[in-house]
This record gives sequence, structure tokens and C-alpha cells, in this order.
Amino acid sequence: MKIRIIGGGPAGMYFAILMKKADATHEIAIFERNGPDDTFGWGVVFSGKTLANLRGADEPSHAEITRDFEAWDNVDVVHRGEKISIHGNSFSGIARIRLLKILQRRCEELEIEINFRTEVADIESLRRDCDLLVGADGVNSTVRQEFADHFKPSLSTRPNKYIWFGTNQLFHGLTLTFRQTPAGVFAAHSYKFDKTTSTFIVECDPLTWSNAGFAAMSDEDARSYLADVFAPDLEGESLLSNNSKWINFALVKNSNWHFENVVLLGDALHTAHFSIGSGTKLAMEDAITLKDCFDQTSKIADALKRFEEARRPVIEDYQAAAYESMLWFENARQYVHLSPIELAYSLMKRSGRVDNGELTKRDAEFMARYESAKSA
Ligand SMILES: Cc1cc2nc3c(=O)[nH]c(=O)nc-3n(C[C@H](O)[C@H](O)[C@H](O)COP(=O)(O)OP(=O)(O)OC[C@H]3O[C@@H](n4cnc5c(N)ncnc54)[C@H](O)[C@@H]3O)c2cc1C
Repeated sequence: MKIRIIGGGPAGMYFAILMKKADATHEIAIFERNGPDDTFGWGVVFSGKTLANLRGADEPSHAEITRDFEAWDNVDVVHRGEKISIHGNSFSGIARIRLLKILQRRCEELEIEINFRTEVADIESLRRDCDLLVGADGVNSTVRQEFADHFKPSLSTRPNKYIWFGTNQLFHGLTLTFRQTPAGVFAAHSYKFDKTTSTFIVECDPLTWSNAGFAAMSDEDARSYLADVFAPDLEGESLLSNNSKWINFALVKNSNWHFENVVLLGDALHTAHFSIGSGTKLAMEDAITLKDCFDQTSKIADALKRFEEARRPVIEDYQAAAYESMLWFENARQYVHLSPIELAYSLMKRSGRVDNGELTKRDAEFMARYESAKSA
């Protein structure tokens, strides 16, 4: 099969790897607008279950990904300067650039062609010249745009502002930190992803953002403002910028996932709010499911239909959980009157997917502490 993939992120490269492994005669080429060493973002998160899926799909890349990643089992909630830890949550982090490098090397090993610094100008011609065209070109997908009449995408821009930083302060676990200021409430989502660096995402509602005066502030001034807000948590470390800018989360859905010989994968197809840390995981698991569908049939139309049937319910479930989580953060100012233990409890239950029984199973001590605070 002649496969053309636009986008050399986790979704595109992982799909190429799995297809080439399944059948070395597939002729696969990836087109990526960035260079091999260009990077954006900091660390990405995987759950224990995702890692098991990656092991099943491709042992060599799984071995590399898990070789020196950072694993943790705690969510820490910091409110009014008090830290509450909730254990029993299995996650791990790896630098995005490291993940991309592992996948690039694996593509090389399998002799998959990657055309870096290549933007496809004529997508329709590429489509006509191949058996399968995969749009794995991220949240602002041009493939989705080009064939919008077929995919019928819905894009909604959410009100909260957020900005990705790194820091050398190490957060051992997924740490959710709340700081109340005269401007409003700031929340930070942070976790370490290698021996020296953590991701540090700051989120706030539009009122807080405008009260703080960010509209008239340079990116550099915003960075030092936020370093001051989170000074007690950063303990002297600075916030590191990688062209970090305020953005609004875009919620992407598509009515149709494929048409003729074109299919979308990863962020091009769907997004889920970063507070459940699943963008990269979902992108790679999409690739696994699509490849599994090609194991079942070599007919492209059938495989794409099966892909949508199998994957849509999973994605819709994730998006529903992520939506609840996103709403919680959009309304964070309504929760900060809670005590630290109550806020931590509310956060753990925000997606509507974790009940008291599950929380007790994960961390009985935390639940006992919460129950006793509630009845006090
Ligand atoms: C600024 C930013 C920072 C992020 N940082 C993190 C982070 O630190 N941690 C985390 O967990 N998640 C992060 N994410 C989210 C995460 O990257 C995605 O959820 C995940 O990577 C989805 O994988 P993907 O392969 O579908 O898309 P992407 O990883 O976005 O890959 C799409 C690729 O397509 C390429 N591309 C796009 N259009 C074209 C075109 N027309 N021609 C050729 N190539 C094209 C892009 O350069 C990109 O390499 C970040 C996202 C953004 C936008």
C-alpha cells in the first residue's frame, strides 16, 4: 500500500512504524514542516495502561520510552500553601523531544521516509497519488481544513488562558497548585519529566487574565509575573520559556473521521483538555487502533469505517471526562473557598469518573482524612 502521512508528530510516526512493521512492502512517506531537532512543549504524560498498550504494539520503542522516564503514583494538590497527596495514580513523564527522537530513530530503522521541513502545498494531488492519506497534522490540521466539507469539524475555543513553561524545580508527581492573588486565581499543572526538568502549565480565567494586565504585557513580563505568583512553589527556580505564549484551549471534534482514502489521527481528529494529560497518549493509541483495523481487512474503506466504529466511543468517553475536568478549572474561583482537603477531593472527582470506592482503593488514608474533615 502507498501511504502518505502529513505530520511527523507522535500520531503520524507511530502509525507509520506499526504499518511498516506489519508489512515491510508498504511504501510509507511522512511530510513534516519542522526540522528533526525543532521542539515545542516540554514533557508528555502517559498512564500505566497506555504503556502496556505501547509495549504490545512495538516493543523496541516501548523499551526506549520507559528506559529513563520519570514515574510517579501521586497527585499533589497545593492550596493555601498546604500540600495534600493522593496516591494510587500511576503516571509517567518523558520529554516530548525525546519521544519524537525515539520515534524518528525507529522510523529510520524501518526505512520509513521522513521529509522534514516540508509543507505539502497541494494536498489533493498527494491524496490522488496514494492509497491512503493520513492527516496527522495536529490541532490546526490543514488536511481537516482542506476537506472540511467531508469531515464537518467543530472547533470551540475555550475561555481560559493557559501558557506552557518548563522549570528546573522538580515536582515529584502530578502537582496542581492554586494561588489566589488580587487579580484572581491561578492554577499550575506541573510534573517532572526527566532528572532536571518539570513541565509547568499556568491557567487562569479571562477575568483574572485581564485584571493582571497580561494584554499589555510582553511574554517576558508575563513569565516574571507568574514566577512571582508561584514563587513559594518554585523555591528560587525560574520559569523557562520555549517561545511560551498565552493560548486558549481549542476543543476539536469531527462529525466524520474519514472519507474515501483520507483519515484524521491524533489532535487533528480530537483534542482533550490538558488537565487530564492525554493528548499524546490518545494520538498514539489512535495509531494502534487504525493499524489493528488494517490487520482485519486490506480494503481501505472498510478499515477506515472499522477504525471510526472502534475508536469513536473511546474518544467520546475521554472527551466527556476531559470536558468535566476543563469546566472545573474554568470555574476554579468557585472552589477556592474550600479547605485544602476538600479542594483536593473535589479535584479528584472532577471528571465524574472516580467514585468514593475507587478513591478509597487508590488511597484509603486520603479518604479517611477527608471523611474526618467533613464530619468535624
Ligand atoms: C504549543 C504546544 C505545546 C505542547 N506541549 C505539550 C507538552 O509539553 N506536553 C504534552 O503532553 N502535550 C503537549 N502538547 C499537546 C501534544 O503535543 C498533542 O496532544 C500530541 O502531540 C498530539 O500528537 P499529534 O501527532 O496528533 O499532533 P502533533 O504532536 O501536534 O504533531 C503534528 C505535527 O504535524 C506537523 N504539521 C502540521 N501541519 C503541517 C503541514 N501542513 N505540513 C507538514 N507538517 C505539518 C507539525 O509540525 C507537528 O509536528 C502541546 C501542544 C502544543 C500546541
